[in-house]
Amino acid sequence: MAEKALLSVEEAEKILGAFPVAVKTETRPLLAAQDRILAQDIHAPFAMPEFDKSAMDGFAIISEDRSPAYKIIETIAAGTLPRLAVTPGHCARIMTGAMLPAGADRVVKRESTREENGTMTIIAEDRNRNIRKKGEDLQAGQLVLAAGERLRAAQIALLASLGMSEVPTARPPRVGILTTGSELVDPGAPLAPGQIYNSNSYSLAAQLRETGAEAVLLGRIADDAGATVEAIASGLEKCDVLVLSGGVSAGDFDFVPAALRAAGFTLHFEKIAVQPGMPTVFGSRDDQIAFGLPGNPVSTFVIFEIFIKPLLLRLQGHAYRPLVQPAVLATAFSRSNGGRTSFIPVTCREGRVVLVSYHGSAHLHSLSQANALLRVPAGLKDIAAGSTVDVRFL
Ligand code: AMP
Ligand code: MG
Repeated sequence: MAEKALLSVEEAEKILGAFPVAVKTETRPLLAAQDRILAQDIHAPFAMPEFDKSAMDGFAIISEDRSPAYKIIETIAAGTLPRLAVTPGHCARIMTGAMLPAGADRVVKRESTREENGTMTIIAEDRNRNIRKKGEDLQAGQLVLAAGERLRAAQIALLASLGMSEVPTARPPRVGILTTGSELVDPGAPLAPGQIYNSNSYSLAAQLRETGAEAVLLGRIADDAGATVEAIASGLEKCDVLVLSGGVSAGDFDFVPAALRAAGFTLHFEKIAVQPGMPTVFGSRDDQIAFGLPGNPVSTFVIFEIFIKPLLLRLQGHAYRPLVQPAVLATAFSRSNGGRTSFIPVTCREGRVVLVSYHGSAHLHSLSQANALLRVPAGLKDIAAGSTVDVRFL
């Protein structure tokens, strides 16, 4: 059968995974680095905390000192330096975050004390030392964030706490989206009979954004060989990667593979044993990359998710591992043709996989209901209810 000769999903993943990429970097102000991928290892420039400090509002004392009362020698606010050393029978009033005075090695929290006429008495046992020791969170020079990590709010907070106002980040790849199809109309305009809305430009732009790449909308081209070559050539002046939707199958008006060749691209594969998305094209011209995706909206979405997203993340220095988990199939799955690896929209919650109504690669509503894709390996047609299956979360 013809399908036997197709490239397997694993082989296609291997070709993409081996494609050489160079990560471009860009230093950004801290907040502008949010959601980007860190381009260099970050080491702590100093210890955290930088000095022994109080973890409570209370009184700094010598821990062995069991005096019945302690004379208060001074008040130490956060950000001011202690002036006096604490000696037996004495204490310093101290605020959370303030530097511990010399001599003291314990803070009794305020709630466990009573204060009268410049004297403090301990009225309830507080066993905790209530001190944050110098370097207990981080040692100076310690690796705190590794290149390749995404900078989310917690990472931004950490970098700010280390005094960094600028961060080395991966420059997001610029990815051009080119849609082919004479039947397409953009949302907002009325549809004439026989036309449909262009959803792929929008799904791809949204997926690119989620991947941290910059989407460049290059518009729509009619199904015309010359126009396709021209649009590819001019699109590549503006971006690192080009994603074309539609025009890759066997129809009379499917010009994309030939147009990519005419634009000087080498095609590394043109068909994958995958469903949806079989006529997927991957090519390169020097360090520029192009994908041609089948136009059916679920195909476009799934192929991006499985094959393009990992490459775009690698272009940002991020070693992406999709979240794939075993789960139990709630109802039986069956398909008529088992020749290809299928990715089926499902919901997976608490280890249970439920199939959503799915009529095939044009059924976008199905995808919008799903939070994962069920991976059905090539060669398998039927999966019984109760079987353990692999799901890939979206
Ligand atoms: P094609 O891959 O060009 O043969 O298109 C396959 C199917 O996907 C056809 O039904 C097209 O109308 C549809 N299609 C192609 N491009 C898009 C798009 N950008 N948005 C929505 N549907 C599309
Ligand atoms: Mg078409």
